[in-house]
Amino acid sequence: MHSGTDLETSLLGPVLADRDCGDCTACCTVLTVDTPDFKKPAGAPCIHLGSRGCGIHAVRPNICRTWFCAWRRVEAMPDEARPDRSGLLVSLNFVREPRNCFEGVSINVRALAGADAIDKAMAATILDSLCDQLVPVWFSDGSRKMLMHPDAEVADLVLSGEPAPAHLRDEVTAWRERYEVFATAPDRGTL
Ligand code: SF4
Ligand code: SF4
Repeated sequence: MHSGTDLETSLLGPVLADRDCGDCTACCTVLTVDTPDFKKPAGAPCIHLGSRGCGIHAVRPNICRTWFCAWRRVEAMPDEARPDRSGLLVSLNFVREPRNCFEGVSINVRALAGADAIDKAMAATILDSLCDQLVPVWFSDGSRKMLMHPDAEVADLVLSGEPAPAHLRDEVTAWRERYEVFATAPDRGTL
């Protein structure tokens, strides 16, 4: 989790009034929390997480009150995409020292540990709902992290700086202009 809630609102949209976490507690286990008043490592259940959810709900840390995954914000994601139902947790991701311009600020679709029966149609639906704007989208399954948006041809052109063919020129130019602040070595490898 990251406290960049204004950026999350501008890139993902405001928190939707009709979405509720319900029984989902995926973010309480999956994500890193690193704020002055509360920290937890990625992939470990929060010490306050019990069988009935957060044990300190009424006095939970500010980051837990203000952070919401993409499912709570993106209307185009269907109800079934809630992380505990889909096995996929989608959130905005921030990398302090990005290896390339697509890593600094991006949307990350994480396959949850143990969710080995991921519904491929749901994964495709989720990706479709996210890959329509100038925000990079990555998919990670715990061992690999793959860039899904923009597609490989566009990404390679953006990173290499080589001239784009006519049918891709506008798209490549738009990505370059938006992300030149993050421009670094041309590396789009996996994590
Ligand atoms: S992952 Fe999303 S839906 Fe699940 S508890 Fe966190 S904010 Fe709520
Ligand atoms: S304090 Fe509560 S809401 Fe925050 S991560 Fe822990 S269990 Fe989840």
